[in-house]
Amino acid sequence: MTERHVQCSTCGVLRPDSESHDIPTLAGEQYVDGYYCSAHAGAALDAAQAHLAALDFEDDTRDDMMPLVSLHALVRARGLMSETLDPPAPGVGMERVRNEALALLELLRHTRLPIVEPSALCSGCYRPVPASQVRVIPWFNDDLCDFVTTFRCGDCVTDSLADTRARLTAGGPHEIGRLAEFFQRHAITIHEHRRGDPPEAVRPLLELTLDHLVRGTLKLQLGETVPLNDVLSAPPPTTSPEPAAPPPPAAAEPRPAPSLWQRIRRAFGRTGD
Ligand SMILES: [Zn+2]
Ligand SMILES: [Zn+2]
Repeated sequence: MTERHVQCSTCGVLRPDSESHDIPTLAGEQYVDGYYCSAHAGAALDAAQAHLAALDFEDDTRDDMMPLVSLHALVRARGLMSETLDPPAPGVGMERVRNEALALLELLRHTRLPIVEPSALCSGCYRPVPASQVRVIPWFNDDLCDFVTTFRCGDCVTDSLADTRARLTAGGPHEIGRLAEFFQRHAITIHEHRRGDPPEAVRPLLELTLDHLVRGTLKLQLGETVPLNDVLSAPPPTTSPEPAAPPPPAAAEPRPAPSLWQRIRRAFGRTGD
């Protein structure tokens, strides 16, 4: 089987696993696996070390412990232990823990952490890629006459989404309806479709959603998701026409229930918020 390929977070190029580096990367408050090519791994290490060096454990208004603890836990889970440092890192207390983290990162300039997550196969080029990097997209299956879920690597996703878009452009109400239902299965509700607007009113919203998929501003989950909010709660009552749908990422969020004030206003026959 083809060697797994990993996409560099900096340049976006896919390279074989053996040429890729797992460098702890800050995501919010925590360090997580970050994947880089050989040309960009050094800068990622520099950034992590500079961040650790600037942590301030005396400032009670900041929680600078969390990133440090998460980094230790991450590299330990990948097989790199502070106990193996020789000589041991200097300092006491949190300073020592910080110095250990800096020394462990320094080791990554010469050694590599394994990339341990499961793989997913790109259906375009048949290369396996890390599951976190696979792009989940709609693809028209002629046998089923429906849009189905398929996986693409970063190299193949743009061309494949262009095919899907062409299918939508050439298609009629059937394709529009099926694509809207595809997104519904991935918990992205196109409200105009659900309430029965004409297909031609739904089409531009689908095109917008495809745009977000191309740019990566919208990511579909690997497994099909159940729209839990639809199951658990009835949609909030609406008494006035809806404005145009927000961009897909916002549309993916559950609609907030009307506030008490909104419900009081509606009860007295006043629409609007
Ligand atoms: Zn790169
Ligand atoms: Zn591919």
